[in-house]
Amino acid sequence: MKTKHIILLLLIALFLSSCNKATPEVLVPEITEEPLAPPEVLEQEPIPTETPRVYQLPEPLPNRTRYKLDFIFDYYSHYGSVSQQIVYTNKSSQPLDEIMLVVPPRNYEGSYDQDRITGDLVASFREEGIFTYIALNRALEPSETTVINIAFRIYLPNYPGIYGYTSQQANISDWYPFIPPYDETKGWLAYPREVDQNDIIVGESIVNEFSDFEVNLTLVSHADLIEVAASAPASGENGRFSYRLENARGFTFSISDSYFEHEIVENGVTIRSYVFMSEVEAGEAVTAIAADAIRLFGELFYPYPRDLISIVVGDFTHNMEMDGLIMISYGIFDFFDGNQESNLDVNLHMLTAHELSHQWFYGFIGNDHAMEPWLDEAIATYCELLFYERYYPQSVDWWWRMRIYGPAPSGYVDSSIYLPEGYLPYRDAVYLQGVLFLHEIRQTIGDGAFFTSLKDYTYDNTYNIATKADFFEAFNRHTDQDLSPIVSKYFQNP
Ligand SMILES: [Zn+2]
Repeated sequence: MKTKHIILLLLIALFLSSCNKATPEVLVPEITEEPLAPPEVLEQEPIPTETPRVYQLPEPLPNRTRYKLDFIFDYYSHYGSVSQQIVYTNKSSQPLDEIMLVVPPRNYEGSYDQDRITGDLVASFREEGIFTYIALNRALEPSETTVINIAFRIYLPNYPGIYGYTSQQANISDWYPFIPPYDETKGWLAYPREVDQNDIIVGESIVNEFSDFEVNLTLVSHADLIEVAASAPASGENGRFSYRLENARGFTFSISDSYFEHEIVENGVTIRSYVFMSEVEAGEAVTAIAADAIRLFGELFYPYPRDLISIVVGDFTHNMEMDGLIMISYGIFDFFDGNQESNLDVNLHMLTAHELSHQWFYGFIGNDHAMEPWLDEAIATYCELLFYERYYPQSVDWWWRMRIYGPAPSGYVDSSIYLPEGYLPYRDAVYLQGVLFLHEIRQTIGDGAFFTSLKDYTYDNTYNIATKADFFEAFNRHTDQDLSPIVSKYFQNP
């Protein structure tokens, strides 16, 4: 290996992780003692229920918020002009005097320029950081619908992340104002971004309702050179594309004039990868890995209900899940050697399984990512284990040693992203302790009850923002074991 490759590998090792938006953890563990053997899983039958459940996805919530975004974008100047319409129904039982907007591009100075906010009930608005509060000229009654129109421009920051551009791509995620979920007791579920003492953005602060999207993209200048990866399939041509996505948390684009695409179809789902020139082989391999993961999660939870999943190389050193689209760091593609036991930081198998599982645990089954991140991150990390158990059983011990015991789990599983100690303790608590917690439940109640409970949890909470109570409700349904000692051991607030 050439020296510059070794240096690059070391740099990547320092900066890679899963699902963190900025430069995260050192994942290369130092193992100083004999690692613990993975815990034994006891076979135990679930408590018999009266009749086997017939699984069916719930009906999507009625009166979902509808976003229509007409987006004109110049890839080469990184500038976009957006005309947005939000059709919002008050789904709470209380009249709303004001409506909140979260405007994530305002996290980047100079990136968002708002022309106007208008609407039949809009009286005025005030801005506080990334939040805008729209005062209504009268209360929006329960079940009443109103329309808000916003015109704005975005100037993508020169930033290697999911919102920003580099010399090779433009990533356009969390790029428009949205109305956060309104909780009857907590109010608007909207949180500021958390950046720790090392300038690492910790976790995911944005919580979205399940909404419907109609997005029209017009590319100006050299549209013929440009490829667009998006959260949904496109219709259209010659730089004018239309997209529709229903029951989604958000709509994301990744645009480049340097993408190499590869596509396979697995059980009716198109799995499409977009990688850079040096990664064509890995771009093909990732679609096969993804097909395995989608097949497994389809079996354990439910079949992936969309037509398309896009796997896009990130010109940055972390990985991230969005609706219908995941981004995996260029370093992982560059160093792909076909081995499922590759160094964790460049392990395409593990990270693809992790990020794809978020299509369920983040995408279809929502949670409050800021306050209860374990509900998606602990389960997504556990899904890595399930992937290895199914396809690479010979590497399961390796996974436990390298992924969990090496970095030394510690802290409380129910930590929020605002853990004062920053990113690494957050990962050790939410991801790693989270895996030990889930595994201890599995050992206690047995595989049968564990997987039935997990399946119940996914079906019951699809299109919902699930909470800890929903999780335990599903598990307590299938066991008469007292789980409270396990909860007390791992949770700060059992
Ligand atoms: Zn994750």
